[in-house]
Amino acid sequence: MAIEPMLQFVLREQAYPAKRAPGDRADDFAEIAARYAAPDAAEQSGRCSQCGVPYCTVHCPLHQHIPDWLRLTAEGRLREAYELSNATSTMPEICGRICPQDRLCEGNCVIEFSGHGAVTIGSVEKFITDKAWEEGWVEPVAVGPARGQSVGIIGAGPAGLTAAEYLRNHGYAVHVYDRHDRAGGLLTYGIPGFKLEKPVVMRRVERLRDGGIVFHHGFAVGEDATLDELRQRHDAVLIATGVYKARHVDVPGAERAVAALDYLTASNRKSFGDAVPAFDDGSLSAEGKHVVVIGGGDTAMDCVRTAVRQGAASVKCLYRRDRANMPGSQREVTNAEEEGVDFVWLSAPVEVCEGEVSLRRMRLGVPDASGRRAPEPEPGGDATVRADMVIKALGFDAEDLPTLFGAPELGVTRWGTVLADGKTLMTSLDGVFAAGDIVRGASLVVWAVRDGRDVSANMHKWLKARAANTKVAA
Ligand code: FAD
Ligand code: SF4
Ligand code: SF4
Repeated sequence: MAIEPMLQFVLREQAYPAKRAPGDRADDFAEIAARYAAPDAAEQSGRCSQCGVPYCTVHCPLHQHIPDWLRLTAEGRLREAYELSNATSTMPEICGRICPQDRLCEGNCVIEFSGHGAVTIGSVEKFITDKAWEEGWVEPVAVGPARGQSVGIIGAGPAGLTAAEYLRNHGYAVHVYDRHDRAGGLLTYGIPGFKLEKPVVMRRVERLRDGGIVFHHGFAVGEDATLDELRQRHDAVLIATGVYKARHVDVPGAERAVAALDYLTASNRKSFGDAVPAFDDGSLSAEGKHVVVIGGGDTAMDCVRTAVRQGAASVKCLYRRDRANMPGSQREVTNAEEEGVDFVWLSAPVEVCEGEVSLRRMRLGVPDASGRRAPEPEPGGDATVRADMVIKALGFDAEDLPTLFGAPELGVTRWGTVLADGKTLMTSLDGVFAAGDIVRGASLVVWAVRDGRDVSANMHKWLKARAANTKVAA
């Protein structure tokens, strides 16, 4: 392969891998973006100006060595590029696919600021890591000499899986408990296949299993064991349970609305070929229905686009602010629009009735305490939209873990997220750590990976000290 020179951003235009045509992609759950061919990845990497202070790296939660692996890619040294990216991430091909790059690495690329269009960092990251899987460059989990200590991890999402891998590297026996029947957390049952195909997640999980990490599926802490029982079984415990309490729509008839995660989980299960009675009897399927999704975040975008693929008669998204003020990624809104979703901006539901939703038109008022312009009703702007199925996607809060886990002494914040010490990441309980969404509130996969990395380093430190103290006492 030819070696591409760097600093080509003026001569060479930004080019993302092609997306499939909206008509094609509306029929299946396969990813919508193609992958670079090797020469395109090299050419696009060659646009990087190799900044001395790379803002892309600064704004990547994992502080990936981006300019270095872009240069290696441009030089055709793909294995080294992959190894460097892999050195700071447990799932680079997953982050390459689903990070909101426009808000993180790419959104802070200096070439973007100079008006030439950011280096397509995420797509290159996806390319080099997929290539590594194909070429057999992805090594098995490196397992350190056995330490005689074990760790229990509650939750097999990206935070739990990342901590599991790093702790296994240190030689701990690692047990992961999850109430679902498959690992991956929201990577598996939340995020749809058109953003992240499931075999991409499952090959990561298999690699961890092959590395000796023991998965206990269908094991709900709070039902199958208390937190205290897990503390008896293991030398340290990590809580990485994510946030799952759906926020409610506080309007009459709201009980008719389906919860977004129930809807997405059923759809993802069908992609695995599972029997899902609530989907098969039509309650969680959008086929042939006029669908209304309430909310403007990434979960709402995933619901509208899933409904399109299930063959909905029409799909509308109600959001009380405008496009510029919505929390979801603009990239995902564009994808949804291309696929035929109708956005009803500045609208809030008033009542969910049989066959329709009554809504009120809104306008943006003065900024509230958060600095965002608060929506307020527009006088005389009421309307109705047809709706055979209403999906509420208004975000998630933490479940009441102290009660669920039978551990009233577990400290939580006023939002119900678990309190973890900023330095040690340990909770109020000795030897019990916490990471991911259950500490931050609903966030991003890349932050869960970062938290998993940080918490594993702290747990290792704590476990080593504990082992040393035990030796001294003996
Ligand atoms: P989770 O992924 O939620 O995993 C927690 C695990 O804990 C789950 O497997 C759960 O079953 C298990 N668990 C919970 N309670 C118990 C219990 N009592 N006992 C045993 N197991 C338990 N982020 C992005 O970066 N890009 C995206 O495109 C994106 N899209 C998203 C789409 C949707 C629909 C949703 C809901 C979120 C999305 N996110 C996205 C956010 C991202 O998925 C989360 O921030 C991330 O998964 C959090 O990781 P986690 O490991 O903390 O928790
Ligand atoms: Fe960008 Fe995410 Fe990769 Fe970091 S991990 S370089 S933010 S795509
Ligand atoms: Fe390259 Fe952009 Fe990062 Fe600078 S900010 S090193 S140009 S990717």
